[in-house]
Amino acid sequence: MYNQDTIVAIATAWGEAGIAIVRLSGPSAVEFSKSILRFEAGYPPPRFMRLASLTGDDGNVIDQVLAVYFQSPKSYTGEDLVEIHTHGGTLAAQLCVEVLIRKGARLAEPGEFTKRAFLSGRIDLPQAESVLGIIRSRSEEALRAAGRTLSGELSVFASDIREELLTLQSALEVELDYPEEISFSPQDDDKGDKKWLGLVTTLRVSLSDLRDRCSVGLLLREGIRVALTGRPNAGKSSLLNALLKQARAIVTAIPGTTRDVIEENVAWRGVPIRLVDTAGLRDIRAQDEIEVMGIERAVEELRRADICLWVMDISKPLDSEDKSYLENLRGKDHIIVLNKADLAAAHPPAVSEDDIGNAMPPNEMPVILPVSAKTGEGLERLKDAILSKAMGSGALDSGLNVTARQLSEINESLSCLTMAEIAITEQKGQDIVAGLLGSARECLERLLGQSHDDALLDSIFSRFCVGK
Ligand code: GDP
Repeated sequence: MYNQDTIVAIATAWGEAGIAIVRLSGPSAVEFSKSILRFEAGYPPPRFMRLASLTGDDGNVIDQVLAVYFQSPKSYTGEDLVEIHTHGGTLAAQLCVEVLIRKGARLAEPGEFTKRAFLSGRIDLPQAESVLGIIRSRSEEALRAAGRTLSGELSVFASDIREELLTLQSALEVELDYPEEISFSPQDDDKGDKKWLGLVTTLRVSLSDLRDRCSVGLLLREGIRVALTGRPNAGKSSLLNALLKQARAIVTAIPGTTRDVIEENVAWRGVPIRLVDTAGLRDIRAQDEIEVMGIERAVEELRRADICLWVMDISKPLDSEDKSYLENLRGKDHIIVLNKADLAAAHPPAVSEDDIGNAMPPNEMPVILPVSAKTGEGLERLKDAILSKAMGSGALDSGLNVTARQLSEINESLSCLTMAEIAITEQKGQDIVAGLLGSARECLERLLGQSHDDALLDSIFSRFCVGK
Protein backbone atom coordinates (compact mmCIF):
# COMPACT_ATOMS: atom_id res chain seq x y z
CA MET A 1 0.00 0.00 0.00
CA TYR A 2 1.28 3.47 -0.86
CA ASN A 3 0.50 5.56 2.21
CA GLN A 4 0.99 4.03 5.61
CA ASP A 5 1.05 7.31 7.45
CA THR A 6 -1.79 9.61 8.33
CA ILE A 7 -1.32 13.29 7.59
CA VAL A 8 -2.85 16.35 9.20
CA ALA A 9 -2.93 20.08 8.44
CA ILE A 10 -5.07 23.18 8.82
CA ALA A 11 -6.86 23.62 5.47
CA THR A 12 -8.12 27.17 6.00
CA ALA A 13 -6.19 30.43 5.91
CA TRP A 14 -4.27 31.72 8.91
CA GLY A 15 -5.84 34.47 10.99
CA GLU A 16 -9.07 35.51 12.67
CA ALA A 17 -12.17 33.91 11.15
CA GLY A 18 -15.43 32.20 12.05
CA ILE A 19 -14.13 28.68 11.66
CA ALA A 20 -10.91 26.85 10.87
CA ILE A 21 -10.81 23.38 9.31
CA VAL A 22 -8.35 20.65 10.22
CA ARG A 23 -7.94 17.83 7.73
CA LEU A 24 -6.76 14.38 8.68
CA SER A 25 -6.18 11.75 5.98
CA GLY A 26 -4.81 8.22 6.01
CA PRO A 27 -5.40 4.74 7.40
CA SER A 28 -5.49 5.91 11.06
CA ALA A 29 -7.68 8.97 10.50
CA VAL A 30 -10.70 7.43 12.23
CA GLU A 31 -8.69 5.99 15.13
CA PHE A 32 -6.85 9.29 15.77
CA SER A 33 -10.00 11.39 15.52
CA LYS A 34 -11.85 9.04 17.90
CA SER A 35 -9.08 9.50 20.45
CA ILE A 36 -9.52 13.29 20.62
CA LEU A 37 -13.24 13.81 19.86
CA ARG A 38 -16.13 13.06 22.26
CA PHE A 39 -19.46 12.71 20.43
CA GLU A 40 -22.67 12.70 22.45
CA ALA A 41 -24.50 10.91 19.63
CA GLY A 42 -21.64 8.52 18.78
CA TYR A 43 -19.06 8.65 15.96
CA PRO A 44 -20.80 9.96 12.83
CA PRO A 45 -21.55 7.66 9.89
CA PRO A 46 -19.75 8.67 6.66
CA ARG A 47 -20.69 12.13 5.31
CA PHE A 48 -22.70 13.13 8.38
CA MET A 49 -21.58 16.13 10.34
CA ARG A 50 -21.80 15.88 14.13
CA LEU A 51 -21.07 18.06 17.13
CA ALA A 52 -18.21 16.92 19.36
CA SER A 53 -15.94 18.13 22.13
CA LEU A 54 -12.32 18.41 21.11
CA THR A 55 -10.13 17.28 23.98
CA GLY A 56 -6.45 17.79 24.69
CA ASP A 57 -3.90 15.28 26.05
CA ASP A 58 -5.20 15.80 29.59
CA GLY A 59 -8.81 15.15 28.54
CA ASN A 60 -9.80 18.81 29.04
CA VAL A 61 -12.10 20.31 26.39
CA ILE A 62 -10.30 22.65 23.98
CA ASP A 63 -13.28 23.58 21.80
CA GLN A 64 -16.74 22.54 20.60
CA VAL A 65 -16.31 21.36 17.01
CA LEU A 66 -18.16 19.83 14.09
CA ALA A 67 -16.64 16.73 12.55
CA VAL A 68 -17.33 14.84 9.34
CA TYR A 69 -15.89 11.53 8.18
CA PHE A 70 -15.39 10.59 4.51
CA GLN A 71 -14.83 6.85 4.15
CA SER A 72 -12.22 5.55 1.69
CA PRO A 73 -12.40 5.55 -1.31
CA LYS A 74 -15.11 8.23 -1.41
CA SER A 75 -13.04 11.14 -0.17
CA TYR A 76 -10.89 13.88 -1.68
CA THR A 77 -7.71 11.86 -1.14
CA GLY A 78 -9.29 8.47 -1.75
CA GLU A 79 -8.27 7.54 1.83
CA ASP A 80 -10.20 7.72 5.09
CA LEU A 81 -10.48 11.44 5.70
CA VAL A 82 -11.82 13.37 8.68
CA GLU A 83 -12.47 17.09 8.76
CA ILE A 84 -12.71 18.85 12.09
CA HIS A 85 -14.26 22.32 12.06
CA THR A 86 -13.04 24.27 15.08
CA HIS A 87 -13.86 27.83 15.96
CA GLY A 88 -11.55 30.38 14.31
CA GLY A 89 -8.94 32.11 14.56
CA THR A 90 -6.23 29.57 14.35
CA LEU A 91 -5.41 28.66 17.97
CA ALA A 92 -8.01 25.90 18.52
CA ALA A 93 -7.14 24.39 15.10
CA GLN A 94 -3.44 24.63 15.89
CA LEU A 95 -3.93 22.83 19.24
CA CYS A 96 -6.02 20.17 17.46
CA VAL A 97 -3.18 19.57 14.96
CA GLU A 98 -0.63 19.38 17.77
CA VAL A 99 -2.67 16.78 19.70
CA LEU A 100 -3.14 14.71 16.53
CA ILE A 101 0.60 14.80 15.86
CA ARG A 102 1.23 13.52 19.39
CA LYS A 103 -1.26 10.70 18.64
CA GLY A 104 0.89 9.68 15.64
CA ALA A 105 -0.23 11.79 12.68
CA ARG A 106 2.36 13.63 10.57
CA LEU A 107 2.13 17.26 9.47
CA ALA A 108 1.21 17.25 5.75
CA GLU A 109 3.57 18.70 3.17
CA PRO A 110 2.33 21.40 0.78
CA GLY A 111 -0.18 19.92 -1.68
CA GLU A 112 0.06 16.46 -0.11
CA PHE A 113 -3.71 15.92 0.12
CA THR A 114 -4.04 16.66 -3.61
CA LYS A 115 -0.95 14.56 -4.38
CA ARG A 116 -2.60 11.62 -2.57
CA ALA A 117 -5.80 12.23 -4.57
CA PHE A 118 -3.68 11.91 -7.74
CA LEU A 119 -1.71 8.86 -6.57
CA SER A 120 -4.87 7.04 -5.52
CA GLY A 121 -6.36 7.68 -8.97
CA ARG A 122 -9.15 9.99 -7.75
CA ILE A 123 -8.03 12.73 -10.15
CA ASP A 124 -5.46 12.97 -12.93
CA LEU A 125 -2.59 15.42 -13.15
CA PRO A 126 -4.37 18.15 -15.17
CA GLN A 127 -7.20 18.06 -12.62
CA ALA A 128 -4.76 18.21 -9.69
CA GLU A 129 -2.98 21.18 -11.26
CA SER A 130 -6.30 22.92 -11.90
CA VAL A 131 -6.99 22.82 -8.16
CA LEU A 132 -4.05 25.19 -7.85
CA GLY A 133 -5.54 27.23 -10.70
CA ILE A 134 -8.76 27.63 -8.71
CA ILE A 135 -6.86 28.66 -5.59
CA ARG A 136 -4.83 31.23 -7.54
CA SER A 137 -7.55 32.58 -9.87
CA ARG A 138 -7.74 36.34 -9.83
CA SER A 139 -10.72 36.79 -12.13
CA GLU A 140 -14.05 35.11 -12.68
CA GLU A 141 -13.15 33.92 -16.17
CA ALA A 142 -9.92 32.35 -14.86
CA LEU A 143 -11.92 30.60 -12.17
CA ARG A 144 -14.36 29.20 -14.74
CA ALA A 145 -11.44 27.97 -16.90
CA ALA A 146 -9.93 26.18 -13.89
CA GLY A 147 -13.36 24.67 -13.15
CA ARG A 148 -13.59 23.29 -16.70
CA THR A 149 -10.17 21.64 -16.34
CA LEU A 150 -11.06 20.26 -12.90
CA SER A 151 -14.21 18.70 -14.33
CA GLY A 152 -11.93 16.82 -16.72
CA GLU A 153 -12.39 18.64 -20.07
CA LEU A 154 -8.65 18.94 -20.75
CA SER A 155 -8.02 15.33 -19.73
CA VAL A 156 -10.82 13.99 -21.95
CA PHE A 157 -9.64 15.85 -25.08
CA ALA A 158 -5.98 15.08 -24.50
CA SER A 159 -6.72 11.38 -23.79
CA ASP A 160 -8.80 11.08 -26.97
CA ILE A 161 -5.99 12.50 -29.08
CA ARG A 162 -3.48 10.26 -27.31
CA GLU A 163 -5.62 7.18 -28.07
CA GLU A 164 -5.85 8.10 -31.73
CA LEU A 165 -2.10 8.69 -31.91
CA LEU A 166 -1.53 5.27 -30.43
CA THR A 167 -3.83 3.65 -32.99
CA LEU A 168 -2.11 5.45 -35.84
CA GLN A 169 1.36 4.61 -34.55
CA SER A 170 0.46 0.92 -34.17
CA ALA A 171 -1.00 0.84 -37.68
CA LEU A 172 2.25 2.29 -39.02
CA GLU A 173 4.29 -0.19 -37.02
CA VAL A 174 2.24 -3.10 -38.39
CA GLU A 175 3.08 -1.76 -41.81
CA LEU A 176 6.77 -1.67 -40.88
CA ASP A 177 6.65 -5.33 -39.87
CA TYR A 178 4.54 -6.42 -42.86
CA PRO A 179 5.44 -3.96 -45.61
CA GLU A 180 3.69 -6.01 -48.30
CA GLU A 181 0.29 -5.56 -46.61
CA ILE A 182 -0.29 -1.84 -46.69
CA SER A 183 0.92 0.92 -48.93
CA PHE A 184 3.14 3.61 -47.51
CA SER A 185 6.67 3.77 -48.76
CA PRO A 186 8.67 5.90 -51.16
CA GLN A 187 7.83 3.51 -53.98
CA ASP A 188 4.11 3.71 -53.39
CA ASP A 189 1.66 5.80 -55.28
CA ASP A 190 0.27 8.91 -53.66
CA LYS A 191 -2.80 7.19 -52.25
CA GLY A 192 -1.12 5.66 -49.20
CA ASP A 193 0.72 8.87 -48.30
CA LYS A 194 -2.39 10.95 -48.67
CA LYS A 195 -4.32 8.71 -46.34
CA TRP A 196 -1.68 8.96 -43.59
CA LEU A 197 -1.20 12.65 -44.16
CA GLY A 198 -4.94 13.23 -43.82
CA LEU A 199 -5.05 11.30 -40.53
CA VAL A 200 -2.07 13.11 -39.03
CA THR A 201 -3.39 16.50 -40.15
CA THR A 202 -6.78 15.86 -38.55
CA LEU A 203 -5.06 15.08 -35.26
CA ARG A 204 -2.80 18.10 -35.54
CA VAL A 205 -5.82 20.38 -36.11
CA SER A 206 -7.65 18.93 -33.07
CA LEU A 207 -4.58 19.37 -30.91
CA SER A 208 -4.10 22.88 -32.19
CA ASP A 209 -7.70 23.74 -31.16
CA LEU A 210 -6.96 22.34 -27.73
CA ARG A 211 -3.77 24.43 -27.59
CA ASP A 212 -5.77 27.60 -28.40
CA ARG A 213 -8.20 26.86 -25.57
CA CYS A 214 -5.28 26.28 -23.21
CA SER A 215 -3.54 29.49 -24.32
CA VAL A 216 -6.70 31.39 -23.47
CA GLY A 217 -6.80 29.66 -20.08
CA LEU A 218 -3.20 30.61 -19.37
CA LEU A 219 -3.88 34.23 -20.34
CA LEU A 220 -6.94 34.21 -18.08
CA ARG A 221 -4.86 33.11 -15.14
CA GLU A 222 -1.66 35.03 -15.74
CA GLY A 223 -3.31 38.08 -17.30
CA ILE A 224 -2.61 39.62 -20.72
CA ARG A 225 0.60 41.65 -20.56
CA VAL A 226 0.13 44.85 -22.50
CA ALA A 227 3.08 47.23 -22.94
CA LEU A 228 2.39 50.86 -23.78
CA THR A 229 5.25 52.11 -25.89
CA GLY A 230 5.88 54.98 -28.22
CA ARG A 231 7.90 58.13 -28.45
CA PRO A 232 7.99 60.64 -25.59
CA ASN A 233 4.95 62.88 -25.33
CA ALA A 234 2.73 60.64 -27.46
CA GLY A 235 0.49 60.32 -24.38
CA LYS A 236 1.34 56.86 -22.97
CA SER A 237 1.04 57.87 -19.33
CA SER A 238 -2.17 59.79 -20.01
CA LEU A 239 -3.55 56.75 -21.80
CA LEU A 240 -2.60 54.47 -18.92
CA ASN A 241 -4.30 56.85 -16.50
CA ALA A 242 -7.37 57.07 -18.66
CA LEU A 243 -7.52 53.28 -18.85
CA LEU A 244 -7.13 52.96 -15.14
CA LYS A 245 -9.24 56.00 -14.37
CA GLN A 246 -6.72 56.85 -11.72
CA ALA A 247 -3.66 59.03 -11.66
CA ARG A 248 -0.59 57.09 -10.81
CA ALA A 249 1.92 57.87 -13.57
CA ILE A 250 3.28 61.39 -13.68
CA VAL A 251 1.85 63.34 -16.62
CA THR A 252 3.78 66.42 -17.74
CA ALA A 253 4.46 68.12 -21.05
CA ILE A 254 8.26 67.65 -20.76
CA PRO A 255 9.47 64.71 -22.91
CA GLY A 256 10.97 61.78 -21.05
CA THR A 257 9.24 62.02 -17.65
CA THR A 258 8.23 58.37 -17.39
CA ARG A 259 11.58 57.33 -15.99
CA ASP A 260 10.71 53.83 -15.00
CA VAL A 261 8.26 51.09 -15.75
CA ILE A 262 4.84 51.32 -14.13
CA GLU A 263 2.60 48.27 -13.97
CA GLU A 264 -1.09 48.13 -13.13
CA ASN A 265 -3.53 45.24 -13.05
CA VAL A 266 -7.10 45.70 -14.24
CA ALA A 267 -9.84 43.34 -15.37
CA TRP A 268 -11.95 43.83 -18.50
CA ARG A 269 -14.85 41.53 -19.19
CA GLY A 270 -13.51 39.26 -16.43
CA VAL A 271 -10.06 38.99 -18.03
CA PRO A 272 -7.04 40.19 -16.04
CA ILE A 273 -4.85 42.66 -17.92
CA ARG A 274 -1.43 43.85 -16.84
CA LEU A 275 -0.80 47.31 -18.25
CA VAL A 276 2.83 48.33 -18.37
CA ASP A 277 3.80 51.91 -19.14
CA THR A 278 7.37 52.02 -20.36
CA ALA A 279 9.80 54.88 -20.59
CA GLY A 280 9.42 56.76 -23.86
CA LEU A 281 11.50 55.07 -26.48
CA ARG A 282 13.55 58.13 -27.19
CA ASP A 283 16.58 57.52 -29.29
CA ILE A 284 19.44 55.95 -27.35
CA ARG A 285 20.95 59.42 -27.37
CA ALA A 286 19.21 59.83 -23.99
CA GLN A 287 21.43 62.06 -21.89
CA ASP A 288 20.73 61.01 -18.40
CA GLU A 289 21.70 57.70 -16.86
CA ILE A 290 18.33 57.04 -15.19
CA GLU A 291 16.58 57.61 -18.48
CA VAL A 292 18.93 55.21 -20.28
CA MET A 293 18.12 52.52 -17.68
CA GLY A 294 14.42 53.20 -18.14
CA ILE A 295 14.77 52.74 -21.89
CA GLU A 296 16.58 49.43 -21.41
CA ARG A 297 13.75 48.20 -19.21
CA ALA A 298 11.25 49.39 -21.80
CA VAL A 299 12.92 47.23 -24.43
CA GLU A 300 12.79 44.27 -22.04
CA GLU A 301 9.10 44.92 -21.31
CA LEU A 302 8.38 45.02 -25.02
CA ARG A 303 9.96 41.63 -25.40
CA ARG A 304 7.91 40.12 -22.54
CA ALA A 305 4.57 41.67 -23.48
CA ASP A 306 1.81 39.64 -25.14
CA ILE A 307 0.67 42.76 -26.94
CA CYS A 308 2.36 46.04 -27.64
CA LEU A 309 0.31 49.24 -27.84
CA TRP A 310 2.31 51.58 -30.06
CA VAL A 311 1.07 55.03 -29.05
CA MET A 312 1.42 57.90 -31.56
CA ASP A 313 0.40 61.55 -31.51
CA ILE A 314 -2.19 62.10 -34.25
CA SER A 315 -1.17 65.75 -34.50
CA LYS A 316 2.44 64.96 -35.48
CA PRO A 317 3.33 63.87 -39.02
CA LEU A 318 5.40 60.70 -39.38
CA ASP A 319 9.13 61.27 -39.49
CA SER A 320 11.92 58.88 -40.41
CA GLU A 321 12.34 57.77 -36.79
CA ASP A 322 8.65 56.80 -36.58
CA LYS A 323 9.01 54.84 -39.79
CA SER A 324 11.95 52.86 -38.44
CA TYR A 325 10.01 52.05 -35.23
CA LEU A 326 6.98 50.92 -37.23
CA GLU A 327 9.12 48.59 -39.28
CA ASN A 328 10.47 47.09 -36.07
CA LEU A 329 7.01 46.07 -34.87
CA ARG A 330 7.15 43.12 -37.23
CA GLY A 331 6.64 39.79 -35.50
CA LYS A 332 5.16 41.29 -32.32
CA ASP A 333 1.41 41.37 -31.69
CA HIS A 334 0.63 45.06 -31.69
CA ILE A 335 -2.07 47.68 -31.95
CA ILE A 336 -1.30 51.17 -33.22
CA VAL A 337 -3.01 53.77 -31.10
CA LEU A 338 -3.45 57.22 -32.66
CA ASN A 339 -3.79 59.28 -29.50
CA LYS A 340 -5.03 62.87 -29.12
CA ALA A 341 -7.90 62.26 -31.57
CA ASP A 342 -9.70 65.18 -29.84
CA LEU A 343 -7.17 67.54 -31.51
CA ALA A 344 -8.24 66.24 -34.90
CA ALA A 345 -11.63 67.86 -34.41
CA ALA A 346 -10.04 71.33 -34.81
CA HIS A 347 -7.30 70.49 -37.34
CA PRO A 348 -7.14 67.65 -39.82
CA PRO A 349 -4.94 64.83 -38.41
CA ALA A 350 -1.26 65.12 -39.35
CA VAL A 351 -1.00 61.36 -39.73
CA SER A 352 -3.51 59.04 -41.38
CA GLU A 353 -4.11 55.31 -41.27
CA ASP A 354 -2.80 55.12 -44.85
CA ASP A 355 0.49 56.81 -43.90
CA ILE A 356 0.97 54.19 -41.22
CA GLY A 357 -0.05 51.29 -43.46
CA ASN A 358 2.53 52.48 -46.02
CA ALA A 359 5.26 52.67 -43.39
CA MET A 360 4.65 49.12 -42.17
CA PRO A 361 6.42 46.09 -43.62
CA PRO A 362 4.52 44.52 -46.53
CA ASN A 363 1.83 41.94 -45.58
CA GLU A 364 1.32 43.51 -42.14
CA MET A 365 -2.33 44.32 -41.53
CA PRO A 366 -2.05 46.70 -38.62
CA VAL A 367 -4.93 47.39 -36.28
CA ILE A 368 -5.03 51.21 -36.04
CA LEU A 369 -7.33 52.87 -33.56
CA PRO A 370 -7.84 56.60 -33.02
CA VAL A 371 -8.40 57.37 -29.32
CA SER A 372 -8.25 60.30 -26.97
CA ALA A 373 -6.78 59.81 -23.52
CA LYS A 374 -8.20 63.26 -22.73
CA THR A 375 -11.87 62.66 -23.63
CA GLY A 376 -11.97 58.87 -23.34
CA GLU A 377 -13.03 58.52 -26.99
CA GLY A 378 -12.22 55.09 -28.48
CA LEU A 379 -11.06 53.51 -25.21
CA GLU A 380 -13.77 50.82 -25.12
CA ARG A 381 -12.89 49.80 -28.68
CA LEU A 382 -9.24 49.67 -27.70
CA LYS A 383 -9.96 47.34 -24.76
CA ASP A 384 -11.99 45.03 -27.00
CA ALA A 385 -9.25 45.03 -29.64
CA ILE A 386 -6.71 43.98 -26.99
CA LEU A 387 -8.91 41.11 -25.85
CA SER A 388 -9.61 39.83 -29.34
CA LYS A 389 -5.95 40.06 -30.35
CA ALA A 390 -4.80 38.16 -27.26
CA MET A 391 -7.46 35.46 -27.45
CA GLY A 392 -6.85 34.63 -31.13
CA SER A 393 -9.27 31.94 -32.20
CA GLY A 394 -9.81 30.70 -28.64
CA ALA A 395 -13.17 31.84 -27.29
CA LEU A 396 -13.22 33.28 -23.79
CA ASP A 397 -15.85 30.86 -22.57
CA SER A 398 -13.94 27.80 -23.74
CA GLY A 399 -10.62 28.56 -22.01
CA LEU A 400 -9.01 25.71 -20.11
CA ASN A 401 -6.79 26.25 -17.14
CA VAL A 402 -3.28 24.96 -17.74
CA THR A 403 0.12 25.49 -16.26
CA ALA A 404 3.09 26.59 -18.37
CA ARG A 405 4.34 22.98 -18.06
CA GLN A 406 1.17 21.58 -19.60
CA LEU A 407 1.11 24.12 -22.41
CA SER A 408 4.70 23.34 -23.31
CA GLU A 409 3.89 19.59 -23.51
CA ILE A 410 1.02 20.39 -25.91
CA ASN A 411 3.26 22.64 -28.02
CA GLU A 412 5.95 19.98 -28.11
CA SER A 413 3.39 17.38 -29.17
CA LEU A 414 2.15 19.72 -31.90
CA SER A 415 5.61 20.27 -33.30
CA CYS A 416 6.16 16.49 -33.45
CA LEU A 417 2.93 16.19 -35.47
CA THR A 418 4.00 19.00 -37.80
CA MET A 419 7.32 17.21 -38.34
CA ALA A 420 5.42 13.97 -38.99
CA GLU A 421 3.38 15.72 -41.71
CA ILE A 422 6.60 16.96 -43.31
CA ALA A 423 8.16 13.50 -43.04
CA ILE A 424 5.17 11.97 -44.86
CA THR A 425 5.16 14.65 -47.56
CA GLU A 426 8.88 14.20 -48.10
CA GLN A 427 8.50 10.40 -48.01
CA LYS A 428 11.08 9.91 -45.29
CA GLY A 429 9.78 6.47 -44.42
CA GLN A 430 7.26 5.18 -41.95
CA ASP A 431 9.76 4.36 -39.19
CA ILE A 432 10.52 8.07 -38.87
CA VAL A 433 6.82 8.98 -38.97
CA ALA A 434 5.98 6.32 -36.36
CA GLY A 435 8.80 7.63 -34.14
CA LEU A 436 7.43 11.19 -34.36
CA LEU A 437 3.90 10.04 -33.57
CA GLY A 438 5.32 8.16 -30.58
CA SER A 439 7.06 11.32 -29.33
CA ALA A 440 3.85 13.34 -29.79
CA ARG A 441 1.98 10.73 -27.75
CA GLU A 442 4.59 10.72 -24.97
CA CYS A 443 4.16 14.50 -24.53
CA LEU A 444 0.43 13.97 -23.97
CA GLU A 445 1.15 11.15 -21.52
CA ARG A 446 3.38 13.47 -19.50
CA LEU A 447 0.64 16.11 -19.67
CA LEU A 448 -1.88 13.62 -18.31
CA GLY A 449 0.53 12.34 -15.68
CA GLN A 450 0.42 8.84 -17.18
CA SER A 451 4.17 8.88 -17.19
CA HIS A 452 5.81 10.93 -14.47
CA ASP A 453 8.70 10.84 -12.08
CA ASP A 454 8.91 11.84 -8.44
CA ALA A 455 10.85 15.02 -9.21
CA LEU A 456 8.01 16.22 -11.48
CA LEU A 457 5.37 15.46 -8.86
CA ASP A 458 7.44 17.19 -6.16
CA SER A 459 7.84 20.29 -8.29
CA ILE A 460 4.10 20.40 -9.08
CA PHE A 461 2.76 19.82 -5.57
CA SER A 462 5.33 21.92 -3.71
CA ARG A 463 3.61 25.00 -5.20
CA PHE A 464 0.42 24.21 -3.28
CA CYS A 465 -0.33 25.45 0.21
CA VAL A 466 -0.19 23.13 3.21
CA GLY A 467 -3.63 21.64 3.83
CA LYS A 468 -4.61 21.38 0.13
P1 GDP B 1 4.13 60.17 -22.58
O1 GDP B 1 5.47 60.80 -22.58
O2 GDP B 1 3.94 59.38 -23.87
O3 GDP B 1 3.84 59.33 -21.39
O4 GDP B 1 3.06 61.36 -22.68
P2 GDP B 1 2.15 62.02 -21.53
O5 GDP B 1 1.06 61.12 -21.15
O6 GDP B 1 3.06 62.54 -20.46
O7 GDP B 1 1.47 63.22 -22.34
C1 GDP B 1 2.23 64.21 -22.99
C2 GDP B 1 1.37 65.44 -23.21
O8 GDP B 1 0.31 65.16 -24.11
C3 GDP B 1 0.72 65.97 -21.94
O9 GDP B 1 0.75 67.38 -21.98
C4 GDP B 1 -0.71 65.47 -22.01
O10 GDP B 1 -1.61 66.29 -21.34
C5 GDP B 1 -0.95 65.49 -23.52
N1 GDP B 1 -1.96 64.51 -23.93
C6 GDP B 1 -1.94 63.18 -23.67
N2 GDP B 1 -3.02 62.58 -24.21
C7 GDP B 1 -3.76 63.52 -24.82
C8 GDP B 1 -5.00 63.52 -25.57
O11 GDP B 1 -5.67 62.49 -25.78
N3 GDP B 1 -5.41 64.73 -26.06
C9 GDP B 1 -4.71 65.88 -25.87
N4 GDP B 1 -5.21 66.97 -26.40
N5 GDP B 1 -3.55 65.91 -25.17
C10 GDP B 1 -3.06 64.76 -24.64
